[in-house]
Amino acid sequence: MEHPIRSLHHVTASVDDAQRDLDFCVDALGLRLVKTTVNFDNHHVYHFYYGDEVGTPGTIWTTFPYRGWGVPVGTKGVGQVGVTSFSVPEGTLPFWKARLEAHGTAVDDVPPRFGEPALAVADPSGLAIELVATRDARAPWTHGGVDEVNAVRGLHSVTMTVDTPAPTVALFRDLLGCTVVDETDGRVRLAVRGVNLPGHRLDLVHGTSAARARNGIGTVHHVALGVASSEDQRRLREELIRYGCQVTEVRDRCYFESIYFREPGGVLIEVATVQPGFTVDETPAALGRQLKLPPWEEPHRLAIEARLPEVRKP
Ligand code: ZN
Repeated sequence: MEHPIRSLHHVTASVDDAQRDLDFCVDALGLRLVKTTVNFDNHHVYHFYYGDEVGTPGTIWTTFPYRGWGVPVGTKGVGQVGVTSFSVPEGTLPFWKARLEAHGTAVDDVPPRFGEPALAVADPSGLAIELVATRDARAPWTHGGVDEVNAVRGLHSVTMTVDTPAPTVALFRDLLGCTVVDETDGRVRLAVRGVNLPGHRLDLVHGTSAARARNGIGTVHHVALGVASSEDQRRLREELIRYGCQVTEVRDRCYFESIYFREPGGVLIEVATVQPGFTVDETPAALGRQLKLPPWEEPHRLAIEARLPEVRKP
């Protein structure tokens, strides 16, 4: 039987200014804003979801713009996703370098990794983003100003920093359906279901002597894996608890249901259902344009809207 974990689902980061985040993700990277909502744990902060046309799991990048809330700048380090990589077609890195520099974004070449060249991109909040040139059959969003030849296809991988890889590898192998598909000095590449393709990869970087990570602006909060169904999620939750992980109750995120736990290396992992997805409360054509609130926040809409910063949707 195939493992119920299907692929990466999304990556979520704490960022600074809402407008600068929108401008970077939509105008510069050409991602689609597929949902404008609020942080379900603090409804005075936006939650932006970016992705392909409908926010397919494995293409989703999400942000909490915390400017004005006194959230400190975070520290990158051990026990955290340090780098989030997006996949772009082979041969398009010169296009991306020119486009991002014209947008005022600093870009650096990265030595090829497992044979794939990449660019390191400094996002406005200090997050480490990469564009990796690779083969990727996924259909891109092409109405964001980047044509099909060049457009971002989705998440390529995340890079997690841990002290020692063995306990993390064991959990991902035994419970999350991942296998080691590549390895070099200081780096282990895991892939969901052994599918060594973009959207399925998690790299572990180890032995860096980096300090412990601290959550805050400019850092990734968690990475989510997509699970086939609520029943599979509940079964997995029991298995994780038996394994010794502290796992949250199932939380209703409107667009998916989620559980959260820390893997042995300290990285916060979410397991999110593939259903119902972002078209549950908007048509595909209208995604992202209006502020959507979960049913339990609707009675407070006026107060919520009054305190959210005004933004211009690109
Ligand atoms: Zn999440």
